[in-house]
Amino acid sequence: MENKGIKLINEDGKRIDGRLYNELRPIKMEVGVLEKSDGSAYVEQGKTKIFAAVFGPKELHPRHLALPDRAVINCRYHMASFSVEERKQLGMTRREIELSKVIRHALETAVFLEKFPRAGIDVFIEVIQADGGTRVAGLNAASLALADAGIYMRDLVVGCAVGKVDGRIVLDLCDIEDKYGEADMPIAFSPRLNSILLLQLNGKLSIEEFNEAIKLAKEGCMKIYELMKETLKKKYSYIIMEEE
Ligand code: ADP
Repeated sequence: MENKGIKLINEDGKRIDGRLYNELRPIKMEVGVLEKSDGSAYVEQGKTKIFAAVFGPKELHPRHLALPDRAVINCRYHMASFSVEERKQLGMTRREIELSKVIRHALETAVFLEKFPRAGIDVFIEVIQADGGTRVAGLNAASLALADAGIYMRDLVVGCAVGKVDGRIVLDLCDIEDKYGEADMPIAFSPRLNSILLLQLNGKLSIEEFNEAIKLAKEGCMKIYELMKETLKKKYSYIIMEEE
């Protein structure tokens, strides 16, 4: 969060990777990419690459953790050791435990947990390559994997980061912008519930900047939301065609 003289936006308003302040990185999405899970997805946002896999709803073990009126989501966000330049330490770090928890909270609001009493739903998020925005891209992958598993949801949760770089509010920060910018604010949003389901802020923003950032993040989320719906439609419309 400390800019040590690195210029992140040039005179033409272009960012370090050539984007304008309101541009997302190129996005690739696919569902049903893993055979062994009930639902899966792959999401690429710029150089950030993530797989998500969902198992369940199924009987929860150990049984005493089961809830009589709803399902329990177990969520694990994990970064592969080779996903960052300096090999990440093995095992779950404090950061990964925290991110697993905030992602789980966002997903819990969206899933109809009450439809699956006593059940467990496992959500695994594996960051294969990290270049900023991994928690939000991970959330997008998890949301797609849950839908791919056929789990009833109120809406797809969609995440996008926004932040402040060289004094400007910008969308979808890459790693360098995250590290040397003034603020990074990942957000998860449900368009149908019109509700923000995750909001974290690292750095400082004025009230005006905060409001501008929320507006920009929601616009980014809406673009990603459309791509997510397209991705799901593509897979399932293909299956319908195959059966005809
Ligand atoms: P997010 O990935 O959700 O933006 P952070 O703000 O914590 O989460 O991390 C920003 C970026 O910093 C990550 O996407 C990744 O590129 C890099 N990063 C995170 N953890 C590590 C680590 N242990 N070693 C090296 N780089 C890391």
